[in-house]
Order: sequence, then structure tokens, then C-alpha cells
Amino acid sequence: MEPTGATAPNHAPASFGNPDLPGEGEVNTVGDPASLVMTGPQNPVIASQFPNQIDAPATDISTQAFFWSSFNISPRRVQRGGWAREITQQDFAISEEISGVNMYLEAGGIRELHWHQTAEWAVMTRGRCRITTLNRKGMPSVEDVEEGDLWFFPAGLPHSLQGLGPDGAEFVLAFDDGSQSESNTLLLTDWFAHTPPDVLAKNFGVAQEVFRDIPLHNLWIFPGDVPGDLEADQNAAGVQWGDDQPVIFRLSRSTPVHENSGGRIQIADSTNFPVASTVATALVTVEPGSMRELHWHPNADEWQYYLRGSARMTVFNTGPHANTTDFRAGDVGVVKRNFGHYVENTGDDVLQFLEVFRSDHYEEVSLANWLSHLPPQLVSAHLNIPADVLATFPRTSQGIVPLR
Ligand code: MN
Ligand code: MN
Repeated sequence: MEPTGATAPNHAPASFGNPDLPGEGEVNTVGDPASLVMTGPQNPVIASQFPNQIDAPATDISTQAFFWSSFNISPRRVQRGGWAREITQQDFAISEEISGVNMYLEAGGIRELHWHQTAEWAVMTRGRCRITTLNRKGMPSVEDVEEGDLWFFPAGLPHSLQGLGPDGAEFVLAFDDGSQSESNTLLLTDWFAHTPPDVLAKNFGVAQEVFRDIPLHNLWIFPGDVPGDLEADQNAAGVQWGDDQPVIFRLSRSTPVHENSGGRIQIADSTNFPVASTVATALVTVEPGSMRELHWHPNADEWQYYLRGSARMTVFNTGPHANTTDFRAGDVGVVKRNFGHYVENTGDDVLQFLEVFRSDHYEEVSLANWLSHLPPQLVSAHLNIPADVLATFPRTSQGIVPLR
């Protein structure tokens, strides 16, 4: 008879920690080491980055749509002044709701004046950047952002980005459509070059010759002079200070919604960053030894961007399907709405990542919060855990598991 229950050795299939029959996972190959031999061509450098895929936990079962990608493997489009690389749904099928761009502008480097069909949410990861835009009433904003700050441009509203001194700006954009590409934007120089000269002259009330030196091909990213004083630029652009919604938000300086010995969670959505009407985010910081607790999101897919450290995440899907993979700085993950997940810090350093959602607000269901708000006998009937032990579980959502 197969051993069952918590007293069974964990290498026996259909036991605690090894639930499947037939068993899946390396623990089930004891006595048959030939099962693990890998004889074909391999790339040990890449393989070393995915210990949880080479040797998945015995609790993993079956397979599901791959939920890992990375800017580290994305082709870099480089021009004088900076570069960009992107991950769209074309490369990463699961990423339906969000596409991502990682861009760098040298000091003075300009991402040319443009607009596009989707909203643009962004987080600054290094350096400083000057941004310009117009709101729906035609009123301008000119702002400087730095590491940990966000900006948000609603779909269709025009904008520019320019790196500031001394080291330029690096940032990650999230568009609220997985198919949006950084190469699919409406560029100022393209429109000028492809409008009849007499129409340009008529529109601006000047002679055609005024436009004879405009670029015939778009600039996209190009070098420029480092901008001067912010206030002078704001005045020159006609910025008026009033009741309008700010287009930037200092996320890394905001008050956490969860904070304990295991880390913290800071949130920006339309409740505290009103202009961000279609993208919500959580900045998650996890100390070594801790993890983002078991939870899911009912309102949107989660698009993750890993800022620092190393992690593993298991995604729990119907079926059941459960699969674990590894994440490092520059990587991107996607968890479809309602699929259960945790994110565990697997390194000796702080883990930091962003959860980005195509929604006007942040929303989650915490497993611990749910189970602690049910009649205890109902939970006991499912899990065979006595009510007095259940009473020691966390009584609320913790966000991050506190260190013991
Ligand atoms: Mn843009
Ligand atoms: Mn999540």
C-alpha cells in the first residue's frame, strides 16, 4: 500500500509535497538515476539561470503557457542618442494586456515628439529625464523625473522624453495593449515630411521655404543639448499651475500599503495617481528569506518587471497545472488574472519587482485573508487542520510574509 498523509516520506508519489500519480519531479527517480540523464546539446550558461525548470519542485504538474521573458534577450535598436528594446505579444504570446519597452537616453538625448494609440505608463530605473506632454484640454506639462518615479500619458496625447545630466535616463514603458510596439508610433518629423509644403505653409501662415531643412526621415532617438532650468522650460511652454492632474507620481517615495520585516508594497493607481486611468501598479520589495504571499488578482493580468535580486514564482492554473520558473533583474513575467501565485526571494540580496495591471485600480485576493474569514470548521473539513491551529494563521492580508 502507498504511504499517505503527512507522515509519508516525501519521495513517495501521492504524498504530502509529492502529490501526483505517477509522480512528477526528480525525487521520484530514486533508484533509477538514468531517468535524469541529459545527453543532447546544451547551453550550460542559460541552463544555470533556471534551476526550477531543470529540476522542478515535485509539486509542479503538467505545463502551461510560458510566463517568462526578458529584456536581457530582446534585440536592442541603437541610434545616436540612445537605444530601446521591447517585449510585445509577438514575442511573448501570453502578454495580451501589456507590452513593455526598456529605453535609454544619453544626457541630452531626445525621444522625438510623438503620440500613439495606447496609453503609456513608465517607471524610471536610472538617472533623470525631462518629459513634456499636453492634457485633454490642451494644457502643457513639463516635469523632471528620477529613479522610482512614474509618468502616465493617456492614449493619443502627444509627448517627448529627454535624458538629463549627468548620466541620461533609463526607464521601462508599459503600453496598455500587448501588441503596441515602440516602432509603431506617430512621429512629428514623419508627418511634416509627408505633408505637402503648401499645406504646411498655409497651416502655420508662413512661406514654404521655412520648411526646406526639415528632416526627410524620422529621428526617433537623436542627440540634443542637455536641457536647462526646469522652471524656465515650464514658463516657455506656458505651463499653468492649477487643479489639473499631475502626469508624474513619486512611487518609491509613497507610503507603503503593507510594510513589515519581510518587505513592503507601494501602490500607484487612479486613487492616488488620478491620470493613470488604465494602468495600476504595485512596487514590491522582498527581503532575503521572505516572499510575496500566496494571492491572485481578479481584475487584470499581472505584468511583472524585475528590478533587482532573484526570485522564483509558481503559477497555479486550472487542471491542475502548476509550474515554477526563475526571475532575475531585467526579466518580465505574466500571470493571467485569477491564477494563484507567490514570488519568493531566492537570493541573498533584496528582491524588487513591479506588478503592472491594465486597470484603473489595484486589486488582489490574499489566500491567508480568505481562509481567516471563514467558519473554521469549514476550512478544517477541507484541509484536515484543527481549528486551534488555523487560529494561528495570519488574520489578514500581509502582502509580504514577515521574517521569523
Ligand atoms: Mn510614447
Ligand atoms: Mn501578484
